[in-house]
Amino acid sequence: MTDFLTDLPEPKLSKVKQSGLADEMKAGLHAPICLTWEWTYGCNLSCVHCLSSSGRRDPNELNTEQMKAVIDQLAEMQVFYINVGGGEPTIRSDFFELVEYAIDQGVGVKFSTNGGMITQEKAERIASMDYLDVQISLDGMDAETNDAVRGEGSYDMAIAAMDHLHSAGMKGFKISVVMTTNNVDQVDEYEALARKYDAELRLTRLRPSGRGAETWNELKLTQAQQIELYNWLLIRPHILTGDSFFHLSALGEPLPGLNLCGAGRVVCLIDPVGDVYACPFVLHDEFKAGSLLDDGGFAHIWRESDLFLSLREPGSEGACGSCGSWDACQGGCMAAKFFTGIPLDGPDPECVKGHGAELLEGDRTLPAAGPDHSKPNGASAVKLMSRPGGKRLA
Ligand code: SF4
Ligand code: SF4
Repeated sequence: MTDFLTDLPEPKLSKVKQSGLADEMKAGLHAPICLTWEWTYGCNLSCVHCLSSSGRRDPNELNTEQMKAVIDQLAEMQVFYINVGGGEPTIRSDFFELVEYAIDQGVGVKFSTNGGMITQEKAERIASMDYLDVQISLDGMDAETNDAVRGEGSYDMAIAAMDHLHSAGMKGFKISVVMTTNNVDQVDEYEALARKYDAELRLTRLRPSGRGAETWNELKLTQAQQIELYNWLLIRPHILTGDSFFHLSALGEPLPGLNLCGAGRVVCLIDPVGDVYACPFVLHDEFKAGSLLDDGGFAHIWRESDLFLSLREPGSEGACGSCGSWDACQGGCMAAKFFTGIPLDGPDPECVKGHGAELLEGDRTLPAAGPDHSKPNGASAVKLMSRPGGKRLA
């Protein structure tokens, strides 16, 4: 996966808020509001923070007919929107066939791309389709900042894609940015860029999963930057953030967006080979709920898997119980805790009160790294984390 992150369509989200359904969301919905589906591990880039360690296609990726059968299941469950990512989903030769099939079944598509395949012709095709949205990843407002993370030439590629979409008349496409210590000072420039293209800006949090496990420590925001970002977002409710920054709500007023961990409750992920995980940031056996190739398909996994049922139980406040900000932040992101070796009922590693940082200083056992799809045979490329006390399981 590139940096395509969980997002809730904001109108839907505000409806959910208005109707007071937050408690129902915690208990799990009949079908996910936000389903991310990675269509391939193949990618023309190899970003240093890639959540799914993408690079090469997996020979076991679902084929066209299997993909269509899954779309049929989602349509039957009335999943109204899928977030398609990868890898780079547009490298699949059946990409447009699948997009059109989904839309014909009443399932809208929003796909994430690095822009490499968005020629003027493709941009016009995208702009002409209803219920299709696109988000372009750009992790720096200049080539130096962006390409250090996403690879040489990727800045020009993303800007060219935006130019093509803009000249094709596509309005409201998303510019998606993973916030790092190197680009967070560019948020005003990002906002201006979105305005220039009639686009929307979407900021997401860097999580320490996939190849991001290796780079998180170096690229994550400082505490001062977290506070600056919080204040910036607080007065910009139009900036899309999904569930990225709810741990910052412990600083005061809640930020707009989803202020809870929706893993297995309103959010989940299907990977390219048909395995289902609790959220896009927890591609690890510990959070695998089942396979679409097993009996019962997606509906059975969503409604009855042991993992998802357990995630819908009320969460324990654990070590966060005494901090006074539990209601605002609820201990933060499960994925960020898991991949930094912090107990799931402990504080977020980027807890704004510094409790996560204290734990990061101590001994921790880190989960075993998953395969890196940019390496031959998917070999695990992840070295031991360089942080004190961080030891990986074999
Ligand atoms: S674990 Fe929860 S808060 Fe973290 S990314 Fe997944 S859904 Fe969001
Ligand atoms: S201690 Fe826990 S609940 Fe309190 S601010 Fe930190 S992560 Fe949030």
